[in-house]
Amino acid sequence: MPIYEYHCTDCGRQTSVFTRSISEEVKPVCRACGGENLSRLISRVAVVRSEESRLESMADPSNFAGLDEDDPRSLGSFMRQMSQEMGEDLGPEFDEVVDRLESGQSPEDIEESMPDLGEGMGEDFGGDLPAGDLDL
Ligand SMILES: [Zn+2]
Repeated sequence: MPIYEYHCTDCGRQTSVFTRSISEEVKPVCRACGGENLSRLISRVAVVRSEESRLESMADPSNFAGLDEDDPRSLGSFMRQMSQEMGEDLGPEFDEVVDRLESGQSPEDIEESMPDLGEGMGEDFGGDLPAGDLDL
């Protein structure tokens, strides 16, 4: 249920208006003075970062600053940071790969010693990592 915050220009107070649906025509009325001269403020709901905006911020090239893809430690900490940003548990294999990278093992060595790695991950692993190629 969307909640909109309005500012009453009659009495200067703020009032919250609930709507049943986004498409519903809303005629907000100030709860304090009954005035109808309300201007909408940014919805509180909009302040919460959406999944989409989080993915967008991950694709932000500035997030890749400092990533040296030839350095396993750099790659490992980047991958850890990315998984934390996603807020998802990517599984024990992912954790192990990140741990090994951070301890300095090369992606190739890790791949060899972990034949069970998912194919999709193994294929591009350690390859180019420009923002556009990230398989999210
Ligand atoms: Zn008012």
